[in-house]
Amino acid sequence: MSRILVIEDEPDIQTLLRYNLQREGHDVVIAGTGSDGLHEVRRQPFDLILLDLMLPDRDGIEVCRILRTSKGMSSIPIIMVTAKGDESEIVLGLGIGADDYVTKPFRIKELLARVKVRLSRNREDEIEAEKQRIQIDDLVIDPVRHRVTIGGEPSELTLTEFKLLQFLASHPGIAYTRYDILEHVGDGDSVVTDRTIDVHVRNLRSKIKPYDACIETVRGIGYRFDERRRT
Ligand code: CA
Repeated sequence: MSRILVIEDEPDIQTLLRYNLQREGHDVVIAGTGSDGLHEVRRQPFDLILLDLMLPDRDGIEVCRILRTSKGMSSIPIIMVTAKGDESEIVLGLGIGADDYVTKPFRIKELLARVKVRLSRNREDEIEAEKQRIQIDDLVIDPVRHRVTIGGEPSELTLTEFKLLQFLASHPGIAYTRYDILEHVGDGDSVVTDRTIDVHVRNLRSKIKPYDACIETVRGIGYRFDERRRT
């Protein structure tokens, strides 16, 4: 069973969606305005959001943008429900991170099918993320989402810093030369050279306290990840 938030102001559509989504076994919460919708998302976790773009208080695009840029909400799948022919809105919505759309008037079967696809994709992502996740105490490295959290708080790493941490942490105890590291974190990007590895390490350390000392400098060789050095 999934928990679905429907942000929609038209009573008939609210009823239609509630009835059909519940019949599919989902838990449904209805919000009649954009502000109520955002309020619900902050209050409880959802697996999916159906978002009408024409709302009485603020438009759905703005709601979508807020969802996509807010901590903890940015990965909830969003399916936009738009008026037919509103292509510029669809393009805009997909551009700021909505996952899919249906146009009104929609066939309920099509909408349910899209919901199903999105939820199962979400579950696959979740399983894959779980498999690849590296966790050291409360430091979590999520290679699927390219995200690092420490005690649940996200660390803002650059792509190179992320790859560097992922590479070293997934081979704990092994000392790598700068050249080895470069081979794994550089993607043909000329900006990353063996000397700049030191700069990336320094920047990375400053962002992953109290795990900074886990990235140990090995004299004459390079670097090694040692989780016991957590301060
Ligand atoms: Ca509407």
